[in-house]
Amino acid sequence: MTATIIDGKAHALALRTRIATQVASFRAAAGRAPGLAVVLVGEDAASAVYVRNKGKATRDAGMESFEHRLPVETDAATLLALVERLNADPAVDGILVQLPLPAHIDAQAVLLAIDPDKDVDGFHPVNAGRLAVGAEGFVPCTPLGCLMLLQDLHPQLAGMEAVVVGRSNIVGKPMAQLLLQQSCTVTIVHSRTREVADHVRRADIVVAAVGIAGFVRGDWIKPGATVIDVGINRTEAGLVGDVDFAAARAVAGAITPVPGGVGPMTIACLIRNTYLSACRREGVEAQR
Ligand code: NDP
Repeated sequence: MTATIIDGKAHALALRTRIATQVASFRAAAGRAPGLAVVLVGEDAASAVYVRNKGKATRDAGMESFEHRLPVETDAATLLALVERLNADPAVDGILVQLPLPAHIDAQAVLLAIDPDKDVDGFHPVNAGRLAVGAEGFVPCTPLGCLMLLQDLHPQLAGMEAVVVGRSNIVGKPMAQLLLQQSCTVTIVHSRTREVADHVRRADIVVAAVGIAGFVRGDWIKPGATVIDVGINRTEAGLVGDVDFAAARAVAGAITPVPGGVGPMTIACLIRNTYLSACRREGVEAQR
């Protein structure tokens, strides 16, 4: 058996194209474009690429992109003052502070300062709480993108065994909450889990978010399972995921590649969250 390769790029392009149409209707109704503010502190090369890509995706969707680039020596008070200004700015629907921040700034304090109703990354504890109780809020973009890929393959997720490898606040935990909301039977495994492989072998759906190249082995995968690989690891062989792709592909029913799987969906979901925020703030009904 050779797994179907899930084309995240194509899914993301379709989503972004749909949002661009929705944004055009929003502009007609609200008389303005949705706006996303992205804040970058310092010169981290990978972060600069992410910020550039987010700005381009925002503009491509017909939204306003407000980019704030601050020098690495910026102090916490200056950054917090900028966040306060963006919170109060009516043209800004979404605020994203690119992580990691320089070590002298308390990233948690900055995330807490963002208005939860503009927190399109979904990292604020208020949004984590809303997700946990099933209330309307913002869902972190990476797990939201993973869920969309899964729903496309499995319109009925209820009852499926899902194993999430990793329990970070930005991927593993919200992913598990989303799968639980879909009535999957969810197991989260982490660095202190005994017999990780045995848990993964039960899974109809595996989501790997570990940060270790090739961590999930091919012989851990249940035949026919769907494998979503969130990992982005830079190795001598180039970018690879958290799953041993070649081996898993021979067993799985469907699998995301790295690159070209989950990654493109993350930015598309950021655009989607910004559109949703603009609709909520203007009282315009969001299109699905
Ligand atoms: P974190 O480092 O925050 O979390 C990693 C998780 O993996 C932790 O919960 C950790 O467990 C667990 N883990 C580590 N070692 C083991 C082990 N030996 N056995 C079982 N579990 C283990 O990473 P993130 O969640 O932020 O990111 C995960 C990966 O996804 C990274 O490669 C990252 O680059 C990528 N990523 C990709 C995105 C995209 O857009 N495609 C977006 C965000 C992340 P414990 O909690 O016990 O330490």
